[in-house]
Amino acid sequence: MKRLFAYLLVIPILSTLAFAKVRIVASTADLASVAKEIAGPLAEVDNICRSTADPHSVEVLPSYMVKVARADLYLKVGLELDFWAELIIDGSRNAKLVVVDCSQGIVPLEIPTEKVNASMGDIHPQGNPHYWLDPNNGLVIAKNILGGLIQVDPSNGETYQEGFRRFQTELSSKIAEWNGAAQTLKGKEIVTFHNSWPYFARAFGVKIAGFVEPKPGIEPTPSHTAELIELIKARTISVIAREPYFSGKIPGIIAAATGAKVVVLPPSVGGAAGIASYFDLFDHLIEALQILEAK
Ligand SMILES: [Zn+2]
Repeated sequence: MKRLFAYLLVIPILSTLAFAKVRIVASTADLASVAKEIAGPLAEVDNICRSTADPHSVEVLPSYMVKVARADLYLKVGLELDFWAELIIDGSRNAKLVVVDCSQGIVPLEIPTEKVNASMGDIHPQGNPHYWLDPNNGLVIAKNILGGLIQVDPSNGETYQEGFRRFQTELSSKIAEWNGAAQTLKGKEIVTFHNSWPYFARAFGVKIAGFVEPKPGIEPTPSHTAELIELIKARTISVIAREPYFSGKIPGIIAAATGAKVVVLPPSVGGAAGIASYFDLFDHLIEALQILEAK
């Protein structure tokens, strides 16, 4: 009995020692998902931007700074998508925080050739920041996260390497599967609300014919909407894809005028029921776009 009592005391102490998890905060659920795949039970992973919220405009709350104050590793999207992360990181006053910009090594699309000004809308001077939507970039993200994990927790380096290799193997087999499933999408045109999809379009051969937004981050205008309706009719485009955080009002009007269907296309993990991981995200997106076949 005495011995049992001793065990009961010792076991919780040992287990807290053995499982002092690395604390990771990521800007988005997509980076958080890749981190979970690599670190598994060794890390506790949280994300700032909610899965169904717009990552371009996150209101910085003091509670986010408190969260980051306790973290070991911060994962940024970079390319200025999550410029708000800087305010959170500064506000956390966490001197030992390691910050990893997951866009390192990504080849950005749509780098502006002219000097960026406000009339161009929400254009990112370093290129389009929605790079995680090409699953081939998932491997670059994973490499960046692996580097961060090894830096904050070198004693478990081998385990992270193993987690990375597992992710790499699963990703390459899933990419082959997605390429197969996306054959039906090749060359088909869609209209999207925001310019979130150039990397996805490049990866799977879908063509983006236009945007509901006249310019990135700019609300739809009647004249642009009228032009888009003409374009959709002229090219018989069957799908208007809307990110879950943009209003369905104008897409609904365009759909009614053209016969095209509005498909809610979540660009992030957790953006719709059943998307629990980075792998689920592409399963969902390719499945949701099979509607293009029906045309
Ligand atoms: Zn954007």
